[in-house]
Amino acid sequence: MIQGDLRVTVPIRWAMVGGGRGSQIGYSHRCAALRDNSFQLLAGAFDIDPERGRDFGEALRVAPERCYPDYRTLFAEEAKRPDGIQAVSIATPNGTHFAICKAALEAGLHVVCEKPLCFTVEEAETLRALARERRRLVGVTYGYAGHQLIRQARAMIAAGELGEIRMVHMQFAHGFHSEAVELANPSTRWRVDPKHVGPSYVLGDLATHPYYIAETLLPDRRIKRLLCSRQSFVESRAPLEDNAYVLMEYEGGVMGHLWASAVNAGSMHGQKVRVIGSKASLEWWDEHPNQLRYEVQGEPVRILERGMDYLSPEAREDDRIGAGHPEGLFEAWANLYGRFALAMEALDRDDTAAVEALGIPGIEAGVEGVRWVEHCVRSAEAGAVWVDYR
Ligand code: NAD
Repeated sequence: MIQGDLRVTVPIRWAMVGGGRGSQIGYSHRCAALRDNSFQLLAGAFDIDPERGRDFGEALRVAPERCYPDYRTLFAEEAKRPDGIQAVSIATPNGTHFAICKAALEAGLHVVCEKPLCFTVEEAETLRALARERRRLVGVTYGYAGHQLIRQARAMIAAGELGEIRMVHMQFAHGFHSEAVELANPSTRWRVDPKHVGPSYVLGDLATHPYYIAETLLPDRRIKRLLCSRQSFVESRAPLEDNAYVLMEYEGGVMGHLWASAVNAGSMHGQKVRVIGSKASLEWWDEHPNQLRYEVQGEPVRILERGMDYLSPEAREDDRIGAGHPEGLFEAWANLYGRFALAMEALDRDDTAAVEALGIPGIEAGVEGVRWVEHCVRSAEAGAVWVDYR
């Protein structure tokens, strides 16, 4: 059980690029990183507008001289300090991730980067090569992967409790963009502009989340081929999709299906993963994150509750408050950030085996997310045809 004890030797000196005042996800990064003192927020280039960024940094109690106007100045100036930052989180619009991540790795920093990591496999592989060469961590914030019931599901699947795995259904389908809300909302506007998001909207923005959860649950399954059909129900979003269906054939005959949508009217979030085996199924839904449905064929449905002693040791290890009280996004993210910190410390002492054992979404997950989106777009552009997965 997590009690907030310091798990790293010394808190990691940390900065943020983006995640400024009013941003959607900046606060989640800070909540997660600062929750158990694994990180110390010491510097930042928090906003595309330097003045706003400085003002916000100061409000976060970052020293004024360490609130920088842009990421290049941040990396250059911090490198000159004996107490300069060791790690940076990147919470900016997608089109900036590649350049900022590359610059951070070149500056010798560990990185936590928002998804999607970048736009092309070529870019992703460049980042992977750089991370390996510099022996730096690149963590990707697939936040719910840190939820204890995802670890529970993984343990149950590995133990064979579902029987032979046959199907995996993934979805992230909310309804918040059922109309052209981007006309009034800047945080949505960049999401439907290829200049800022590259080749896809919901595939990169939403689908990569449940896709990574499924990767976590079924670590040995490789996709053989996939087929994607995508639509722009709000026509002004074309060529970017606000809805997509993906069918996947995995090695070993497992079938996968993923639905990503921003126009699922009335749905709040709709992120679900359901793994179906020959004996039983498991289903997790982010709107009810404290319950895992375990459905054994021919028996009453069982609801496994977070925090209970009957869960696996891996799941109980991540518990913070015991059963009954709800835990959710912030705790899942904090678990993930705690592991990112341990991985950074392990890499600093060249212990790659310890990093592997942590099971975090690292650079491989980042590369795979980009590869998957690239294949989906290729299939959709060719008229929703099967494409081999390479
Ligand atoms: P947003 O538009 O709400 O906020 C972006 C922030 O970045 C703003 O503060 C902006 O001023 C700042 N910014 C933009 N360019 C910058 C630059 N070059 N240098 C410094 N700051 C800059 O966006 P958001 O919704 O918070 O999304 C940011 C990223 O987080 C995106 O990649 C998005 O896909 C991702 N995201 C992830 C999750 C998740 O669950 N992991 C959820 C939401 C968003």
